[in-house]
Amino acid sequence: MSAIKPLVALVGRPNVGKSTLFNRITRTKNALVDNTPGVTRDRNYGDAKWDEAEFTIVDTGGFADDKSDNFADSIRFQVRQAIEDADIIVCALDGKGGISPYDDTLTNLLRPVAKPIFYVVNKIDGPEQEYAIHDFYQLGIDHLYPVSAEHRYGMNDFLSALAEAVTAISAGSFSDTESEMINIAVIGRPNVGKSSFINCILGENRLLVSPIAGTTRDAIDTVFERDNRTYRFIDTAGIRRKAKVKKKLEKFSVIKALKSLSRCDVALILIDAEEGITEQDISIAGYAYERRCSCIFLINKWDLVNKKETSSQKYYDDLRMKAKFLPFAPMLTISALTGRRVPRIFKVVDNVYLQYCSRITTGELNRILQRAIDQTTPSLHRGRRIKFYYAAQVTTKPPTIVIFVNYPQAVHFSYKRYLINRIREEAKLDKTPIRIFFRQRGE
Ligand code: GDP
Ligand code: GDP
Repeated sequence: MSAIKPLVALVGRPNVGKSTLFNRITRTKNALVDNTPGVTRDRNYGDAKWDEAEFTIVDTGGFADDKSDNFADSIRFQVRQAIEDADIIVCALDGKGGISPYDDTLTNLLRPVAKPIFYVVNKIDGPEQEYAIHDFYQLGIDHLYPVSAEHRYGMNDFLSALAEAVTAISAGSFSDTESEMINIAVIGRPNVGKSSFINCILGENRLLVSPIAGTTRDAIDTVFERDNRTYRFIDTAGIRRKAKVKKKLEKFSVIKALKSLSRCDVALILIDAEEGITEQDISIAGYAYERRCSCIFLINKWDLVNKKETSSQKYYDDLRMKAKFLPFAPMLTISALTGRRVPRIFKVVDNVYLQYCSRITTGELNRILQRAIDQTTPSLHRGRRIKFYYAAQVTTKPPTIVIFVNYPQAVHFSYKRYLINRIREEAKLDKTPIRIFFRQRGE
């Protein structure tokens, strides 16, 4: 397992240039995006790389749901999420507009936070405008980075410093190479039953204190053994804490979801059976898909469903249709309240995880590829045949395959899907995501 990608949250009041900064930073890496139909794609988070430091960046401004003039509330919401779940915070200020009362609110919220925080004063479009940052020193900040997201001014200095912080965090994060823990994320809308689910599991299993000395992770995660396997439910402290709060006015936190998804092997996507499958459920599933996790849908609160009117099959069909991009995700109805079928999830998790980690030998893979091509040849590319030379699986978690071809750009999305389906069938990998990349031969 590679080092965990730290999560950087961008906060700031509207119009300071967060989304411009976000675009500038994510453009440092040309992301391999496949436009899978059905994935709700907001452009508020993305992967970035600078000086070899890789991180995920989230523009929290995009999540402030009320676009009203209530800046203070929206800022508080963004910042609270960032403080709780991000590894690094970038606070953007407006060098053109000058200091605003909201900047005080913002910096006061951030002051007690022990995480690395970078304050950037944006819209400093050149050295002659640097004087504009002096005003901001009255906020009591030690270091300000003058930048221009639009014109790149100052971005190198800022990004180099950010990359250093990212590297320090990646180096400090533990990796799981030595242990065979299955890392599980529990995600879903507020009130679908995440904390009830975790508690249900806890009631059944003996908690294990992490053997990794000197980490605080064991306080944050829920780790236990069961039938000689170790499971780690990641970032569950917050979920469990919420269970104790009586009245929850929780909003869905994208940062929280992205954070736990970045470390997980298997994502458990909880859905409220009583409420049915909503758009937000599907968009949450989309995050798991985009983060390349293996996924399991748990349709919770099944005890509340009138079985005479609704069958589980009806739910499964509905879910398959609405989350077309996750055809490989098993589905299970459970009740976290009664505990019904909850113990069954472990078998499903084991099964999914096994596939997620599996390796297809090069020989077998090339035979599968050859048979697939013999059966259905790809369409011509400008009158020329697309030739598939050779395939190899380059990584696991999930199985990722590189195929060498003469025209990598010319392979149609539908043909790629066809190949993935063939590999699924023949290698018996029906429960894991599979990725294929096409490369020019000789590369
Ligand atoms: P957000 O609401 O914080 O996401 O802000 P936007 O990224 O949408 O930017 C708000 C406005 O500021 C837009 O009109 C941008 O063109 C402008 N802007 C952003 N960055 C810069 C910059 O570096 N220099 C200047 N002069 N304008 C900028
Ligand atoms: P979270 O916000 O996703 O952590 O959801 P909670 O675990 O706090 O659950 C929200 C509400 O749904 C609580 O009142 C729970 O008692 C209830 N709940 C959770 N799971 C079930 C279930 O399986 N059946 C029923 N009937 N209620 C449930």
